[in-house]
Amino acid sequence: MKVEILSQNDREIKFAVKEINVAFANELRRIMMSEVPTMAVEWVDFKKNDSALPDELMANRIGQIPLTFDKKAYNFHETCDNCKGKGCSRCQVELVLKKKGPGMIYSEDLKSKAKDVQPVFGKIPIVELFESGDELQFEAIAQLGTGREHAKWQAAVVGYKYEGDSFIFNVESVCGLSPEDIVMHAADVLGEKASEFGKLLGKLK
Ligand SMILES: [Zn+2]
Repeated sequence: MKVEILSQNDREIKFAVKEINVAFANELRRIMMSEVPTMAVEWVDFKKNDSALPDELMANRIGQIPLTFDKKAYNFHETCDNCKGKGCSRCQVELVLKKKGPGMIYSEDLKSKAKDVQPVFGKIPIVELFESGDELQFEAIAQLGTGREHAKWQAAVVGYKYEGDSFIFNVESVCGLSPEDIVMHAADVLGEKASEFGKLLGKLK
């Protein structure tokens, strides 16, 4: 197998892979999209919501905001060995928002209790408060998840095409990880799967 990086920036990477087949290319694409853990808001507790947007719709919108995070710092909530799933600083991060109208509320208005967990983009509109005195106030809990559980945790949009004798991949990060991180993590997952498969084959002998 040969890999060549064709172009890259903060959000996107393009690379060519030689000597693989369609099944391998599909598996790599699927893992990058749905098995790389990312950080997103899972719970929102509204204290005040005078906007025109119902709580459920706003919670959904908040969940879609990509968040940066230290990729070595967090456990999955359900299997956290520090708290056994009760919730702790190793598996959950609290973000709060408290704003008064009138005006547009943006992702940058979210105040995170963890330095590493911040909105990737500051100017994602959440909702507009039209009247003076209108308030929006909530506490949100972000945690790790994967695209397989819900689209809000999807790490990347990935496409590939077959050209000559190479598969050309285009990976665009839609989360708080760099595109290189996503590719490297996917390669690890693929490696673990191959080694697991090897062990199972060994047992059959
Ligand atoms: Zn925990």
